Formats: sequence, C-alpha cells, structure tokens
Amino acid sequence: MDYVLWIADEYAFDVIYSSFSYLGLPNLARDDMLRQSCSLLCISGFGAYAIYMIFSTISFYLFFDKNLMKHPRFLKNQIQQEIKMATDSIPTMALLTVPVFLLEVRGYSQLYENVEEHGWPYLFLSVFAFLFATDFGIYWIHRGLHHRGIYAYIHKSHHKWIVPTPYASIAFHPVDGWALSLPYHICVFLFPMNKSLYLALFIFVQVWSILIHDGKYLTKDPVINSAAHHTVHHLYLNSNYGQYFTLWDRLGGSYRKPTEEIYNIESRSPTKNGLSGAAEHEASTLKSKPALLKSP
Ligand SMILES: [Zn+2]
Ligand SMILES: [Zn+2]
Repeated sequence: MDYVLWIADEYAFDVIYSSFSYLGLPNLARDDMLRQSCSLLCISGFGAYAIYMIFSTISFYLFFDKNLMKHPRFLKNQIQQEIKMATDSIPTMALLTVPVFLLEVRGYSQLYENVEEHGWPYLFLSVFAFLFATDFGIYWIHRGLHHRGIYAYIHKSHHKWIVPTPYASIAFHPVDGWALSLPYHICVFLFPMNKSLYLALFIFVQVWSILIHDGKYLTKDPVINSAAHHTVHHLYLNSNYGQYFTLWDRLGGSYRKPTEEIYNIESRSPTKNGLSGAAEHEASTLKSKPALLKSP
C-alpha cells in the first residue's frame, strides 16, 4: 500500500494537503499519521469501489449467465440492490481497514521491496503460502459467520442473494466484508511478502470474489472452489465456505459437490412453462427444505 500511497501523494495529495494552508490549517507532512490515515481511507474506499465496479461490470457482460436472472429466486431490481449494499458498505469497510494499512505503511509488516532479499524460489512459494493461509482464514471466519448467534446480525445480508450476480461479490454488511478480508491483511505480518506481488494478489483476490459469483461454471476441478461451489453455498448455506480451494471444506466436513444439473447450462435455463432441470430442482429443494434458508 505504500507504493500506492506514494503515487497518490506525488500526483494528488501533496497539492490537496498544501491547499489546506489557505484555510489556515497546517500543511501536514507525508509521514504524518493523521494525513496517512485520511489518505489511506480515500485510497482504500475509492480503490475498492473502482475495482468492484470495473471488474463486476466486465464479469457481468462477458461471463454472467443472464438466464439466471429468470430464476424464481432472482429478486426484483437485484443488481441495483447488490450495488447499493456494496456502495453503502465500502466506506465503513475502508475505515475499519485503515489501521492495518497504517501499520503496513509505517513499516510494521513483513513486506519487502527487492525480490533478491528472499530470492525467486521464495517469491513463488509465498504465492502458495498466501493462497493457502488466506483460504484457511476465510474458511473459518466464513463458517463462524454462519453460527446461529452471529448469522442474522452480520452475514445474512449477503445471503439475500440466493442467485447472486458478480455485483454480489462485496454486497455485504460492512463488518462481514471487513472480517472476511482480515486474512489478507494478517498474512503480511506473519511471513515476508514482496510488495508488488502482494499488491497484485490483493487485486486478484477481489477479482476472484467476483468470479465465484458470476454463474459461469468454467471448471469442474475438484480442488478449485469455483462459481459452481459458491452457487451451492448460496443455495444451501451450510456448505462450501472456502474461497479458492475445496481443501478446508473437505477437511471440515462441509464440502458439497455441485450436481451435474447445476453445471449444465441447459438444465439451469428456465423453460416456457416455468423452470427445468437444476433450476426447478433448486427451487423445489428450497421449498421442501425451508430450514436451509434460515440461519444454520
Ligand atoms: Zn455464507
Ligand atoms: Zn457469496
């Protein structure tokens, strides 16, 4: 984040903060904690919103199966509702994240600049360590958010979307979105990570969150937690809590394999007479198992 902060200081914030002196306010130095906090709040808020809108829109127009919008569980004006929930949550999520970014830019993390410091093999290894560790963290936090004592207050908002679109990727209660992002932030305090790589992975994880909500079931790989797996999570609530891999769900006993009907785009499509295939199956399952729609 210090790269991003430096660029923002160089090309925007220096001018903005110096203009405050015309109002009789002090011209805060770049390393002033108050200035860094305000700058990080702006960067994380606008950055998150820009990544969310750009990649969700690309995913919606290029990948999202529009037939899913005819699903009986697809809400009226759902996309507008998803965007509103995400937009309302981003400022609070950004505010809650500022302390972690502040620790990062003030040098308390294990982020490093030159690849030579730890070498290329470590760089590649750190990608897997990042994915493995964050997947573990997200699995348990997500599973915890489904606990009956917490679910209704924080995580239920995200499960308003039974048939989600890419715009549901951060359509969360702000504490929910912040809690699920904690593993990414904690990682850089646990083991060394290259700054550029971390920035790239940070954007990747946001894009991945969009991809698992895009309804495009590109892979049946049993190791990858794909959009099909996350669709199953939105349909049944008590399975597939993972983010990238199915490993922790398998070990934690919460793995649920998507059925062939869910993978089959034809059987997901509504017919003239209503629904067919998986869509009908999903709707009837939801009707016959109302408990699945309640907090598990
Ligand atoms: Zn959930
Ligand atoms: Zn989701």
